[in-house]
Amino acid sequence: MKIVITEFMDEPAVDALRAKFDVVYDPALVDNADALSKLLPQADALIVRNRTQVRGPLLASASKVRVVGRLGVGLDNIDVDACTARGIDVIPATGANALAVAEYVIGTAMVLLRGAYHSSAAVGAGKWPRGPLSNGREIAGKTLGLIGFGGIGRLTASLARALAMRVVGVDAMLRPGDPVWHSAGVEPLSIDAVLERSDVVSLHVPLTRETTNLIDAARIAKMKPDAILVNTSRGGVVDETALADALKAGRLGGAALDVFANEPLPAGSPLAGLPNAILTPHIGGVTRESNERVSAMIAERVAHSLAAGRA
Ligand code: NAD
Repeated sequence: MKIVITEFMDEPAVDALRAKFDVVYDPALVDNADALSKLLPQADALIVRNRTQVRGPLLASASKVRVVGRLGVGLDNIDVDACTARGIDVIPATGANALAVAEYVIGTAMVLLRGAYHSSAAVGAGKWPRGPLSNGREIAGKTLGLIGFGGIGRLTASLARALAMRVVGVDAMLRPGDPVWHSAGVEPLSIDAVLERSDVVSLHVPLTRETTNLIDAARIAKMKPDAILVNTSRGGVVDETALADALKAGRLGGAALDVFANEPLPAGSPLAGLPNAILTPHIGGVTRESNERVSAMIAERVAHSLAAGRA
C-alpha cells in the first residue's frame, strides 16, 4: 500500500512506515500541485501538516485514500465532512504538540511582561538603559485568561499555576459546573469577564464560524490597557487590524502572535515593526521533541488504520 507524505515529517517515523509500506516522502510536494495530482490517485494514505489543503480537486483525485494523517491538531485545512462522507479516517496528532504550545505561551508572556530582553545591542554598544528597563512585571500573581479550555488550554493552565498565576477561562463546550475547572484550579467565567480580569489572555480555540474574529475591536477594548494577548490558535480568530491599532495606541501592553489570517504574513501588515509584538511563523507547536512525538504518533496510527482496513 502507498503512503504519500506532502510536508515535513521526522525521518525515523518515515523510516518506520517505509519498513511496511511504499512511501513517497517529499516535504516540497505541498507546493507542487502537478506532482501531487500524479501521485494521489495511487495513494492509500495521505499524511499532511497544516499547509496541504485536503479538499476539492485534491481530495477528488485521492480516489483510493482511506486515511489522512495530520501532523498537528487543527483540522481547518482538511474538509473533514467530505472525508467522513467518503469513509476516510482523519487522524490528528492530538496532544503530541500541546506542551510545545503551552511553553510558547508562558515564555512569550514572560518576555512581554518583563519587557527587558531586547537590550543586547544597547548594552553591547556601551549604553546602560537600566532605568527604562527596571519597570518590568513578574508573572507570579498575575491572572491568565484562557479562551478555549481543551488539551492545550489545560496544559497551559498547569504550567501557569506552577508559576503562581491565577487562572480563569471560558469554553463553549464546558458548563461552569463541570468538575474539570475545579480540578485544574481554573475559575470559569464569561468571555467578557475573562478579557476584563486577565493580565495575559491566551487563545486556544479551533477556527470555526463562531470563533472567526472572536477577538475584535470591541473585545480588545474590554482588555486591561497593559494586558498581553497571546495567539497560538488560528489567525482568523483575531482581527489583526484592530489589534495593531490597539498596540500602536498603547491600549494593550503587548501581543505574541504565532498564527495569522494569511500565512506567510504578507509584507506591509499593520502588525509589522511594533516594538511590543512578538511575531513567529506558526512554530508554537513545533520543537525537536514535539516533531518526534507528532510524527511517531501519526506513523503508528496511520499504519494501524491501514492494517485495520486490510483485515
Ligand atoms: P482542543 O480541541 O483540545 O480544545 C479546543 C477547545 O476550544 C475545546 O474545548 C472547545 O470546546 C473550545 N471551543 C470551541 N469553540 C469555542 C468558542 N467559540 N468559545 C470558547 N471555547 C470554544 O484543541 P487544542 O489541542 O487545545 O488546540 C487548540 C487550537 O490550537 C487548535 O484548534 C489549533 O488550531 C491550535 N494549534 C496551534 C498550534 C501552533 O503551532 N500554533 C499547535 C497546535 C494547535
